[in-house]
This record gives sequence, C-alpha cells and structure tokens, in this order.
Amino acid sequence: MLNVDDALRKLGDLTSPVLDTEVIPLTESKGRVVASAVDAPMDLPPFDASAMDGYALHANDLNQDGELAVVGESRAGHVCQDPVAPGTAIRIFTGAPIPRGTSAVVIQEDVERHGDQIRFRASLEIGENIRSRGHDIAKTQLLAKSGDRLDAYKISWLAACGVTNVTAVRRIRVALFSTGDELIDPGTPLGPGQIYDANRTALRELVSERPVEVLDLGALPDNPQAINRALETAVETADVVVTSGGVSVGDADYVKDVVAQAGSLDFWKIALKPGKPLAVGRVGKALFFGLPGNPVSTIITYLLFVAPTIDRLCGMPDSKPYRLPAILQGTIEHHQGRREYVRGIFGTNGDRVTVSPTGDQSSNRLATFANANCLIVVSEQTDDIKAGSIVNIVLLPTDRSHIWTG
Ligand code: AMP
Ligand code: MG
Repeated sequence: MLNVDDALRKLGDLTSPVLDTEVIPLTESKGRVVASAVDAPMDLPPFDASAMDGYALHANDLNQDGELAVVGESRAGHVCQDPVAPGTAIRIFTGAPIPRGTSAVVIQEDVERHGDQIRFRASLEIGENIRSRGHDIAKTQLLAKSGDRLDAYKISWLAACGVTNVTAVRRIRVALFSTGDELIDPGTPLGPGQIYDANRTALRELVSERPVEVLDLGALPDNPQAINRALETAVETADVVVTSGGVSVGDADYVKDVVAQAGSLDFWKIALKPGKPLAVGRVGKALFFGLPGNPVSTIITYLLFVAPTIDRLCGMPDSKPYRLPAILQGTIEHHQGRREYVRGIFGTNGDRVTVSPTGDQSSNRLATFANANCLIVVSEQTDDIKAGSIVNIVLLPTDRSHIWTG
C-alpha cells in the first residue's frame, strides 16, 4: 500500500497550476490568490505623522526644561500651516501631519499646560513619537506577491495603499457528487435503509473555504452508467472532480472502475486511517478524487489530499501544516502500518500544550469532529501510545482553534 507521503508526492506530480487570471475588485478578493505581484503605489503612511496625542517640538527644544509657547494645532486630516520656531510648540493629535520645522512629539501625559504655555521633563530623541513617511511600506516595495492568498490582513494593507483591483487566479472549478443507493438529501423523510447525504454537504462547505466554483451533481445511485454520465458532465468544465463512496471493495463499489475506463486511475488504497480506499486519477483534463464514503474518511482525505491540490492549482506555494508537540491525555490504540489522524481537542495546562482524543474514533462518527480543534498525527511506525507521551498535532483548518482564550 502506498504511504501518505508517497501518495502526496505522486499527487504533486499530477498537479500543475491553473494559469488563467482575472482582474477583480479588492472588495471581492477575500480568499483569492494573487496572480501578478502588487507593488506599493505610494508610501504608507504618506506623510510623517504623529503617533501620539501631545505636542510637536522644534529640534532645539527636545531636552529643555523651560517653558514653550503653544502657537498652533495639527489634527488628523488637517495640515498645520503655523510656522514653528525654537521655543514654540504645536498641539498635535495621533495621525496628524508633523508640522514643518518640528522634529519630535512629547506625549501629553508628560506635559503640564497652563494656558498657552507648556512645560515638560522628558528628554526626546529626534523622530520620537513620529511615524515616518513610508515606514509601514515604501512606494514600489512588494505588497503582495503572486501565490499569496488574500485574507483580511493583506486586503486591508492593499486598501491602505489605495489599491482597488488585483489580478487573481481564476476560481478553481470543482465538481462534486456522492454515490450510494442509500443516500437522500435532507428535507425528505427517510425510507427504510436510507440515510441522509452528509458527505456532499461536508465537501461543499469545505471546498467553499477556498477560491472555487462548485458544480454540485447530486447524490447518485450505485450504478456505473449514472456515475459515468455524471463524470462526463463534470469533466466538461471541472478542474477537479471529487466524489464520495463506492471506492472500496464491495460489490456496489463502481466508481474507480468507471474512472479507470473513462480516464486513468493513478493510485488507489493508501496506508491511512481513516481513508484507506482513497482513489486518485484523471479524466480528461480534470483530476479525480474518489473519497471513501464514511464521513470521517471523506473529510480527512479531503483535508489531506484535495485541499492542498486546490491550493496548488491556484498557484500557492506548497506548505506543510505545522506539527506541534502536545502531551497526550488518555491513550491511543494503534498498530504499526498506517498513518492515523485522530480527532483531538488541544488546550493548555499552565505552559504545556495538552491534547485529548475525542472518544470512539470510528470513521462513521461525525461526533468525533464535534468539539475537535486538531488532528493527532500517529505515524506509520507507532504502536499504542500511553498517556503522558508527546504526540504531534496539526490544527484543524477552521475557526476551531480557540487560541485566544483571554
Ligand atoms: P462506501 O465507501 O460507499 O462503501 O460507504 C461506506 C459507508 O459510508 C457506508 O456506511 C455508507 O452508507 C456511508 N456513506 C457513503 N456515502 C455517504 C454520504 N454521502 N453521507 C453519509 N454516509 C455515507
Ligand atoms: Mg457505497
């Protein structure tokens, strides 16, 4: 059986970035991937500005202990035209332009003011409490490089520099369908032996966290013709086809045969738990992922294989998730051979990071994700793990990582 790392390497070799780009408004760019570098079109801040509320001083007066006359005022959004000479000061507020002739700002907490006279004890350096022009970023420096995913932080930096449009990689087209005679959509009463389709929902929600366009082809019966027809429709437009179910060794598991006939099956069966029956191949120009039907297997194989593939198609550089050491609370039963991803809850105990598995890890149990904020990575070479051992965790890529506990 192929191990996870070899499978990921093979998959990497099958994937090349989509090169189509489009210009989009910055206001609609969240989650999109930059296709052409953006250089800062201006200095930020665009002028020397006060970092504090206080008084702007002439260079000669930074160390003096006498009195200064306040001769003007500089507020954010207004340029102070009052001339400043030694022995005089300008009342100034945070974000206001530094008046010509002044060299530092003394904060108001250090100043005694009587009428138009101020007195202060502080000793200041030139430039103190001044945000100099361009100190956030200077004009022509790199604001965003190609392959950067735009998030709130980056978008706000671009906006602060007046950028209104970016050239982004076009959305990746992902076609989805689930397979299984037992599946119906929520909203219809269950018949005998039926279950609701959880995986298509999981996949729709998970892929939507990336810059994709989703083509949802529904839940299909275990019927090779129906699966083949859906596949034909999918590959007309899709870059990636993701299915769930029907890739195991049961009599009704037709998906991988259909894919092998319509295109090619590059690998099947991974030394992974949960998710062993994962099938990866190509049909037309599309990459194909046949994820196993048990919902936890679907989600884990999505996170491990499909999500990084979408990122690579977007032109993002490969990155491995951070593995953090944590102290295991409870035990993990494991036999050597397959890599296992155990759903866990990590937290802190004083200055130590601890992690607990989320109970019975059966691959049908979506309950194992209920409060999970990480996955415990159990390597192929590991046997049972005792309480108190150091294990590696990867954070679940959702807003589940409640790092900010106040
Ligand atoms: P399969 O991979 O088709 O053998 O399915 C394995 C298990 O997952 C079976 O118990 C299926 O009923 C269940 N399953 C398959 N597809 C789904 C789905 N879309 N939602 C929920 N459970 C599913
Ligand atoms: Mg099935």
